Amino acid sequence: MSARLIDGKTISADLRGKVTDAVHRLRRDRGIVPGLAVVLVGHNPASKVYARNKTKAVTEAGLRSFDQYLPEDVSESELLDLITRLNIDENVNGILVQLPLPPQINTDRVIAAINPDKDVDGFHPLNAGRLASGLPGLVPCTPLGCVRLVKTVHPSLAGLEAVVIGRSNIVGKPVAQLLLAENATVTIAHSKTNDLPSVCARADLLIAAMGRPEMVRGGWIKPGATVIDVGINRIVGEDGRAHIVGDVAYAEAKTVAGAITPVPGGVGPMTIACLLLNTLTAASIQNGLPAPKI
Ligand code: NAP
Repeated sequence: MSARLIDGKTISADLRGKVTDAVHRLRRDRGIVPGLAVVLVGHNPASKVYARNKTKAVTEAGLRSFDQYLPEDVSESELLDLITRLNIDENVNGILVQLPLPPQINTDRVIAAINPDKDVDGFHPLNAGRLASGLPGLVPCTPLGCVRLVKTVHPSLAGLEAVVIGRSNIVGKPVAQLLLAENATVTIAHSKTNDLPSVCARADLLIAAMGRPEMVRGGWIKPGATVIDVGINRIVGEDGRAHIVGDVAYAEAKTVAGAITPVPGGVGPMTIACLLLNTLTAASIQNGLPAPKI
């Protein structure tokens, strides 16, 4: 058996097209152009690539981009001052601070300083609490993208046994909350979980988000299960060249799973598409309009 490929590139292109159309309508009918400020501190090469890709996607969707670059040695108070200015800038509907931040800066304090209504990453404690309480709010982009991918295979998740490996605030916990809200039965596994292969083996839906290259083996997967691989790991292959692999051993897993996301080309492109959607949602709500149903 070979699993159905869950093609994140195509699914995200469709979502980006819908967001672009909605942005166009918002500009035409209301004169509103949603704006996103990506804040990048320092020279982390991976962060720079992410930030550049985000900016390109933002302008292609017709949104306005207000990128902010700060030096590696910026102080926490300077960064907090910038966030205060962005919070009150009416042209800026979304603020995203690219993580990780340098060690002199307290990441939690920075996230807490963002106006929750502009928190398009969904990391502010208020938005995390809203998600946990089943209240509307901005939801982290990668988990949102994961659930949209799952729904291309399972329009209803009611009754499915879901296992999420990883409990970070960025991926594991919010994706588990979203699956619970969709009526899946959810287990969250982590580095202290006993006998992880047996826990995974009961999953109709397996979400791997631990940042461990190809750790989930084919033999861990229930035949026919849907597998979403969030991991992005850079490894040097046998050919001596750098490759990106996920947290799932793809070649093995695709012979057992019913459907699976590739890495790259799975969750990654959905994250950016969901960032555009969150910025549109934030702009709509800040202007007294309902969240777009896309
Ligand atoms: P993180 O903050 O490092 O969290 C990793 C989680 O995995 C932790 O909860 C950890 O458990 C768990 N874990 C680590 N080793 C494990 C093991 N051997 N067995 C079971 N659980 C284990 O990472 P993250 O930010 O959530 O990111 C996870 C992965 O997703 C990374 O590869 C990252 O690059 C990728 N990612 C991709 C996107 C995208 O757009 N595709 C976005 C964000 C992240 P403990 O809590 O017990 O330590």
